[in-house]
Amino acid sequence: MIEANGDVAVVTGGSRGIGKSIAVKLASAGHNIAVVCSKADESLDGTVAEIKALGVSCRAYICDVSDFNQVKDTVKNIASDFESIGILVNNAGITRDGLVLRMKPEDFDAVIAVNLKGTFNFIHEVFPYMMKKRTGRIVNISSVVGVMGNAGQANYSASKAGIIGVTKSCAREFASRGVTVNAVAPGYVETAMTAVLPDKIKEQMLTAIPLGRYGRPEDIANAVGFLCSEQASYITGQVLCVDGGMCM
Ligand code: NAP
Repeated sequence: MIEANGDVAVVTGGSRGIGKSIAVKLASAGHNIAVVCSKADESLDGTVAEIKALGVSCRAYICDVSDFNQVKDTVKNIASDFESIGILVNNAGITRDGLVLRMKPEDFDAVIAVNLKGTFNFIHEVFPYMMKKRTGRIVNISSVVGVMGNAGQANYSASKAGIIGVTKSCAREFASRGVTVNAVAPGYVETAMTAVLPDKIKEQMLTAIPLGRYGRPEDIANAVGFLCSEQASYITGQVLCVDGGMCM
């Protein structure tokens, strides 16, 4: 046990973008952090340093969330490095956009494997630790397109709609064990994932946002921070859209 000074919050895809903001938010609330992502890079190093500077313990774990055996080993390592796991945020995600008729089957499978199966994999391995303590918080990052659909994103929308189904089912299964399970559905947030979209699409998106601005990673982190807090102890099975009013 290297940093045994309390519970840890596991944030998948925590190296950059929305996941980084969530990890920093939870660290600011005093939680130790386990950052999970698929590769070691400068962004990961910067995130870990920023979190440690907040005075909590933080460790990075390299793991492909879509690979069940890697997830099993990673969760085992996290649980032995920290006292126990109190929070799980399933945030790791990818896109492989394309119109259905042009979408390669492997692009459909890849997005489902990371976004949806990755969420299942982590819940499957982390829940036993929460069940033992009879307390825990799980927040899954969905998307407004999981609620509304989106042309060119059949694979991604399916994965994000699936996450809502997993969230509600787990909320019902885990409630008697004191574990809440909720989803946050971001709208359009400025990160590496959306930076690659053509300007025309970005402008179209903006006209669909009643609050008149793109989301910031911190907007999503604030909602996740709330759902992980004591104040949210009577909320489970919900999907909170954080989208400037896009989906209402
Ligand atoms: P991002 O900047 O591309 O970051 C994605 C994160 O996921 C990175 O840390 C990445 O790390 C990790 N990741 C990707 N594949 C992985 C894998 N197989 N195993 C482990 N980690 C993996 O994306 P983002 O915009 O912050 O999005 C974060 C989440 O919010 C995603 O679930 C996304 O679908 C959702 N979301 C985003 C928006 C938006 O507008 N940005 C809107 C709605 C929902 P590595 O590169 O090291 O793997």
